[in-house]
Amino acid sequence: MRKYVIMGVQGSGKGTQSQMLAADLDIVHISVGDIFRWNVQNHTKMGAQVRRVMAAGELVGDDLVESVVRDRLTGHDWNFGFIIDGFPRNCRQAEFFVESYDIDGVIALELPDSEVRRRVLNRRLCAGCGINYNLIDSTPGVPGRCDACGGELVAREDDTEEALAVRLRDYHEKTNPVLDLFRRKEYVISVDARPPAEAVQVEIRWRLGLPPYRAPQAQPEESRSA
Ligand code: AMP
Repeated sequence: MRKYVIMGVQGSGKGTQSQMLAADLDIVHISVGDIFRWNVQNHTKMGAQVRRVMAAGELVGDDLVESVVRDRLTGHDWNFGFIIDGFPRNCRQAEFFVESYDIDGVIALELPDSEVRRRVLNRRLCAGCGINYNLIDSTPGVPGRCDACGGELVAREDDTEEALAVRLRDYHEKTNPVLDLFRRKEYVISVDARPPAEAVQVEIRWRLGLPPYRAPQAQPEESRSA
Protein backbone atom coordinates (compact mmCIF):
# COMPACT_ATOMS: atom_id res chain seq x y z
CA MET A 1 0.00 0.00 0.00
CA ARG A 2 1.41 3.37 -1.02
CA LYS A 3 -0.05 6.64 0.21
CA TYR A 4 1.32 9.87 -1.16
CA VAL A 5 0.49 13.56 -1.09
CA ILE A 6 1.61 15.80 -3.95
CA MET A 7 1.94 19.51 -3.36
CA GLY A 8 3.06 22.44 -5.45
CA VAL A 9 1.97 25.79 -6.66
CA GLN A 10 -0.62 26.11 -9.47
CA GLY A 11 0.72 24.87 -12.80
CA SER A 12 3.58 22.91 -11.23
CA GLY A 13 2.25 19.71 -12.79
CA LYS A 14 0.62 17.99 -9.79
CA GLY A 15 -2.13 16.46 -11.92
CA THR A 16 0.24 15.31 -14.68
CA GLN A 17 2.75 13.80 -12.27
CA SER A 18 0.01 12.09 -10.24
CA GLN A 19 -1.48 10.52 -13.37
CA MET A 20 1.95 9.28 -14.49
CA LEU A 21 2.48 7.67 -11.08
CA ALA A 22 -1.01 6.21 -10.87
CA ALA A 23 -0.91 4.75 -14.40
CA ASP A 24 1.36 1.78 -13.73
CA LEU A 25 1.55 1.59 -9.93
CA ASP A 26 -2.16 0.76 -9.58
CA ILE A 27 -2.70 3.60 -7.17
CA VAL A 28 -5.70 5.91 -7.37
CA HIS A 29 -5.26 9.59 -8.23
CA ILE A 30 -7.52 11.72 -6.07
CA SER A 31 -7.77 15.37 -7.09
CA VAL A 32 -9.96 17.48 -4.83
CA GLY A 33 -10.08 20.23 -7.48
CA ASP A 34 -11.32 17.68 -10.07
CA ILE A 35 -14.05 16.50 -7.69
CA PHE A 36 -15.24 20.10 -7.28
CA ARG A 37 -14.98 20.80 -11.05
CA TRP A 38 -17.05 17.68 -11.77
CA ASN A 39 -19.74 18.93 -9.39
CA VAL A 40 -19.74 22.39 -11.02
CA GLN A 41 -19.98 20.92 -14.53
CA ASN A 42 -22.79 18.60 -13.49
CA HIS A 43 -24.73 21.33 -11.68
CA THR A 44 -24.94 19.47 -8.37
CA LYS A 45 -25.85 21.14 -5.09
CA MET A 46 -22.19 21.03 -4.09
CA GLY A 47 -21.25 22.54 -7.45
CA ALA A 48 -23.55 25.50 -6.78
CA GLN A 49 -21.96 25.92 -3.35
CA VAL A 50 -18.37 26.08 -4.62
CA ARG A 51 -18.61 27.60 -8.09
CA ARG A 52 -18.18 31.26 -7.20
CA VAL A 53 -15.45 30.60 -4.65
CA MET A 54 -13.50 28.53 -7.19
CA ALA A 55 -13.88 31.03 -10.03
CA ALA A 56 -12.46 33.75 -7.75
CA GLY A 57 -9.46 31.52 -6.98
CA GLU A 58 -10.37 31.30 -3.30
CA LEU A 59 -10.27 28.22 -1.11
CA VAL A 60 -13.43 26.22 -0.41
CA GLY A 61 -14.34 25.97 3.32
CA ASP A 62 -12.48 23.35 5.35
CA ASP A 63 -15.60 21.48 6.57
CA LEU A 64 -16.77 20.80 3.03
CA VAL A 65 -13.28 19.89 1.80
CA GLU A 66 -12.73 17.49 4.69
CA SER A 67 -16.04 15.76 4.13
CA VAL A 68 -15.26 15.37 0.40
CA VAL A 69 -11.86 13.84 1.21
CA ARG A 70 -13.31 11.58 3.92
CA ASP A 71 -16.06 10.34 1.57
CA ARG A 72 -13.61 9.77 -1.27
CA LEU A 73 -11.21 7.82 0.91
CA THR A 74 -13.93 5.63 2.39
CA GLY A 75 -14.53 4.34 -1.15
CA HIS A 76 -12.76 0.97 -1.39
CA ASP A 77 -11.10 1.42 -4.75
CA TRP A 78 -7.57 2.14 -3.50
CA ASN A 79 -6.34 -1.24 -2.30
CA PHE A 80 -2.85 -0.49 -3.61
CA GLY A 81 -2.83 3.09 -2.37
CA PHE A 82 -3.51 6.62 -3.50
CA ILE A 83 -1.91 9.88 -4.46
CA ILE A 84 -3.85 12.91 -3.32
CA ASP A 85 -3.45 16.20 -5.16
CA GLY A 86 -4.70 19.63 -4.08
CA PHE A 87 -5.06 18.63 -0.44
CA PRO A 88 -4.14 19.62 2.23
CA ARG A 89 -4.05 23.35 1.45
CA ASN A 90 -3.77 24.70 5.00
CA CYS A 91 -2.62 23.55 8.44
CA ARG A 92 -6.10 22.60 9.66
CA GLN A 93 -6.61 20.28 6.67
CA ALA A 94 -3.13 18.82 7.20
CA GLU A 95 -3.81 18.04 10.84
CA PHE A 96 -7.12 16.36 9.96
CA PHE A 97 -5.29 14.29 7.36
CA VAL A 98 -2.31 13.12 9.41
CA GLU A 99 -4.61 12.17 12.29
CA SER A 100 -6.56 9.83 10.00
CA TYR A 101 -3.99 8.43 7.53
CA ASP A 102 -0.33 7.34 7.57
CA ILE A 103 1.43 8.93 4.64
CA ASP A 104 4.41 7.28 2.97
CA GLY A 105 5.71 10.36 1.24
CA VAL A 106 4.99 13.97 0.37
CA ILE A 107 6.13 15.17 -3.06
CA ALA A 108 6.75 18.92 -3.16
CA LEU A 109 6.98 20.27 -6.72
CA GLU A 110 8.93 23.50 -6.84
CA LEU A 111 8.35 26.19 -9.46
CA PRO A 112 9.13 29.93 -9.40
CA ASP A 113 6.10 32.28 -9.59
CA SER A 114 7.26 33.73 -12.94
CA GLU A 115 7.03 30.27 -14.55
CA VAL A 116 3.69 29.58 -12.82
CA ARG A 117 2.11 32.56 -14.55
CA ARG A 118 3.40 31.52 -17.98
CA ARG A 119 2.18 27.94 -17.53
CA VAL A 120 -1.23 28.67 -16.00
CA LEU A 121 -2.23 31.34 -18.51
CA ASN A 122 -1.35 28.92 -21.35
CA ARG A 123 -3.22 25.96 -19.83
CA ARG A 124 -6.26 24.51 -21.61
CA LEU A 125 -8.62 21.71 -20.62
CA CYS A 126 -10.76 19.53 -22.88
CA ALA A 127 -14.42 20.30 -22.12
CA GLY A 128 -15.27 16.74 -23.24
CA CYS A 129 -12.78 14.38 -21.56
CA GLY A 130 -10.82 16.64 -19.20
CA ILE A 131 -7.33 16.04 -20.69
CA ASN A 132 -4.90 18.90 -19.99
CA TYR A 133 -2.98 20.74 -22.69
CA ASN A 134 -0.70 23.73 -22.65
CA LEU A 135 -0.11 26.06 -25.53
CA ILE A 136 3.65 26.05 -24.84
CA ASP A 137 4.78 22.48 -25.53
CA SER A 138 1.77 20.14 -25.72
CA THR A 139 -0.29 21.84 -28.40
CA PRO A 140 -3.11 19.80 -29.95
CA GLY A 141 -2.94 18.63 -33.60
CA VAL A 142 -5.96 20.77 -34.53
CA PRO A 143 -5.92 24.15 -32.74
CA GLY A 144 -8.61 24.38 -30.06
CA ARG A 145 -9.61 20.68 -30.34
CA CYS A 146 -8.74 17.69 -28.16
CA ASP A 147 -6.52 15.06 -29.85
CA ALA A 148 -8.27 12.26 -27.96
CA CYS A 149 -11.99 13.09 -28.29
CA GLY A 150 -12.23 16.17 -30.55
CA GLY A 151 -13.82 18.17 -27.70
CA GLU A 152 -13.38 21.91 -27.38
CA LEU A 153 -10.32 23.13 -25.45
CA VAL A 154 -11.20 25.78 -22.89
CA ALA A 155 -9.35 27.74 -20.21
CA ARG A 156 -10.25 26.85 -16.63
CA GLU A 157 -12.54 29.48 -15.13
CA ASP A 158 -9.93 30.17 -12.43
CA ASP A 159 -6.92 30.42 -14.80
CA THR A 160 -7.15 34.20 -15.06
CA GLU A 161 -4.65 36.86 -13.93
CA GLU A 162 -6.96 37.93 -11.07
CA ALA A 163 -7.76 34.45 -9.74
CA LEU A 164 -4.15 33.38 -10.13
CA ALA A 165 -2.98 36.28 -7.95
CA VAL A 166 -5.39 35.13 -5.20
CA ARG A 167 -4.32 31.48 -5.55
CA LEU A 168 -0.62 32.31 -5.42
CA ARG A 169 -1.11 34.47 -2.34
CA ASP A 170 -3.04 31.65 -0.61
CA TYR A 171 -0.42 29.14 -1.61
CA HIS A 172 2.42 31.12 -0.07
CA GLU A 173 0.47 32.14 3.04
CA LYS A 174 -1.52 29.01 3.81
CA THR A 175 -0.04 26.06 1.93
CA ASN A 176 3.69 26.63 2.46
CA PRO A 177 3.27 26.22 6.25
CA VAL A 178 1.74 22.78 5.54
CA LEU A 179 5.02 21.74 3.96
CA ASP A 180 6.87 22.85 7.10
CA LEU A 181 4.45 20.77 9.17
CA PHE A 182 4.97 17.74 6.91
CA ARG A 183 8.73 18.25 6.99
CA ARG A 184 8.58 17.80 10.76
CA LYS A 185 6.30 14.73 10.64
CA GLU A 186 6.58 13.08 7.25
CA TYR A 187 8.92 12.22 4.49
CA VAL A 188 9.04 15.20 2.09
CA ILE A 189 10.94 15.15 -1.19
CA SER A 190 11.37 18.47 -3.00
CA VAL A 191 11.60 18.18 -6.77
CA ASP A 192 12.39 20.87 -9.35
CA ALA A 193 9.24 21.07 -11.54
CA ARG A 194 10.86 23.08 -14.38
CA PRO A 195 12.19 20.18 -16.53
CA PRO A 196 9.87 18.31 -18.96
CA ALA A 197 7.18 16.16 -17.29
CA GLU A 198 8.91 12.81 -17.97
CA ALA A 199 12.18 13.99 -16.42
CA VAL A 200 10.30 15.21 -13.33
CA GLN A 201 8.58 11.80 -13.09
CA VAL A 202 11.91 9.96 -13.32
CA GLU A 203 13.28 12.09 -10.48
CA ILE A 204 10.19 11.54 -8.28
CA ARG A 205 10.37 7.76 -8.68
CA TRP A 206 14.08 7.64 -8.05
CA ARG A 207 13.75 9.74 -4.88
CA LEU A 208 10.84 7.61 -3.57
CA GLY A 209 12.55 4.31 -4.45
CA LEU A 210 9.74 3.36 -6.86
CA PRO A 211 10.05 1.22 -10.02
CA PRO A 212 11.36 3.29 -12.97
CA TYR A 213 8.94 5.20 -15.19
CA ARG A 214 8.02 3.55 -18.48
CA ALA A 215 6.50 5.88 -21.06
CA PRO A 216 3.24 4.44 -22.48
CA GLN A 217 3.75 2.74 -25.86
CA ALA A 218 2.28 4.65 -28.81
CA GLN A 219 -0.73 2.71 -30.13
CA PRO A 220 -0.63 1.48 -33.74
CA GLU A 221 -2.78 3.56 -36.13
CA GLU A 222 -5.45 0.78 -36.65
CA SER A 223 -6.14 0.22 -32.94
CA ARG A 224 -6.41 3.99 -32.34
CA SER A 225 -9.19 4.38 -34.86
CA ALA A 226 -10.94 1.15 -33.72
P1 AMP B 1 -6.95 22.82 -8.00
O1 AMP B 1 -7.43 22.09 -9.20
O2 AMP B 1 -6.23 21.94 -7.02
O3 AMP B 1 -6.17 24.06 -8.35
O4 AMP B 1 -8.28 23.31 -7.23
C1 AMP B 1 -9.19 24.17 -7.85
C2 AMP B 1 -9.99 24.93 -6.80
O5 AMP B 1 -10.74 24.00 -6.00
C3 AMP B 1 -9.16 25.73 -5.80
O6 AMP B 1 -8.77 27.00 -6.29
C4 AMP B 1 -10.14 25.83 -4.64
O7 AMP B 1 -11.18 26.77 -4.92
C5 AMP B 1 -10.79 24.43 -4.65
N1 AMP B 1 -10.00 23.50 -3.83
C6 AMP B 1 -9.35 22.38 -4.27
N2 AMP B 1 -8.73 21.75 -3.25
C7 AMP B 1 -9.00 22.50 -2.14
C8 AMP B 1 -8.63 22.39 -0.77
N3 AMP B 1 -7.88 21.37 -0.31
N4 AMP B 1 -9.08 23.33 0.09
C9 AMP B 1 -9.86 24.34 -0.33
N5 AMP B 1 -10.22 24.53 -1.60
C10 AMP B 1 -9.81 23.61 -2.51
